[in-house]
Amino acid sequence: MTTTTLTGTCPECETELSLPPMVQGETLSCPECMLTLRIETIDQGRITLEMVAVELRDWGQ
Ligand SMILES: [Zn+2]
Repeated sequence: MTTTTLTGTCPECETELSLPPMVQGETLSCPECMLTLRIETIDQGRITLEMVAVELRDWGQ
């Protein structure tokens, strides 16, 4: 079996990302904008990433 690298584009900063094989629904952080992204669909090595609304903790200020 060949290992396929997945590619996708960050919806926020449009950085082209190369990722190791992952499964749908997994989350990752964009190395550029640090946004949390979730893999929505995987189509022939091409992934669609969706921004995940991260609940920010109240910093108490
Ligand atoms: Zn990004």
